[in-house]
Amino acid sequence: MSELAGRAAFVTGAGSGIGRASSLGLARRGAYVWVTDVDEAGAEGTAELIAREGGRAAAVRLDVSDEAQWTAALARSDDRDEALTVLVSCAGRSMIADTATMPLADLRSLLAVSVEGTFLGMKHAIPRIAGSGGGAVVTISSLAGLKGIPGMAAYCATKGAIRMMTKAVALECAELRNGVRVNSVHPGVVDTPAWHKHDPEEVGRSRHGSPGARVLDPHVVAETAVPIGVACSPAEVADTVCFLASDAARHITGAEIAIDGGMTAG
Ligand code: NAP
Repeated sequence: MSELAGRAAFVTGAGSGIGRASSLGLARRGAYVWVTDVDEAGAEGTAELIAREGGRAAAVRLDVSDEAQWTAALARSDDRDEALTVLVSCAGRSMIADTATMPLADLRSLLAVSVEGTFLGMKHAIPRIAGSGGGAVVTISSLAGLKGIPGMAAYCATKGAIRMMTKAVALECAELRNGVRVNSVHPGVVDTPAWHKHDPEEVGRSRHGSPGARVLDPHVVAETAVPIGVACSPAEVADTVCFLASDAARHITGAEIAIDGGMTAG
């Protein structure tokens, strides 16, 4: 598969989970991948995996909430022959906390990564993608951007914001006729390291997981929460990301695609 040969893709949160799988998928389709993450070692690990498969990538440390880091990271892409045509905005953190006890600072830190990070990526990458003749932006929202989840109000707020920002920017690009398509994907329960990054105290106090659980296991959660009964793999999300990034999705913009095993169907 070389449908993205000669093109470059920029992926945030690419050092782990869905971002790593998306980077691998894009590289397998021939793209040069800018593998970016606040976790530099994670980004380097993804770039190594791509290189081991014969793909091409560069690892870059990028905190998506920092505008100066965005302009510096994207400026590096200007120096390569491969035209930047894809942005996958994947960086994010999850948060379990009841609204009545959640510190405002925690909400703000989540907004900075998910909402400000997605905004900054679109602001700085879309003009470059348009300058390359067009391409695609894929934002990673969540089931939490489609349905309310008790105990996750802050997370739902950020993911709902990403969903609507995606649609508004899709229409801005359409008005400009700049050839840039912008879509969101909404995973449900995906087996990634994110599930193990929750504070055990937070999990223990919450209504998530089985009673008294201190660690969230996506496979256990999926048995009851996902209609088809199984968790999604990061590679399955990446397949949809790569489809939306490809020319096969030429007529799709402003769309939201749930990858949730039926969680939003009922
Ligand atoms: P993950 O394995 O934890 O990967 C997320 C990556 O983003 C991590 O490497 C993380 O670094 C990085 N990151 C965090 N803050 C960042 C920042 N300010 N700038 C740049 N990178 C940053 O999580 P994942 O499950 O793959 O999640 C990827 C996306 O999918 C997230 O937006 C998440 O909300 C969404 N999602 C996941 C699921 C799921 O079930 N896993 C479901 C729906 C939606 P650190 O580890 O250092 O924080």
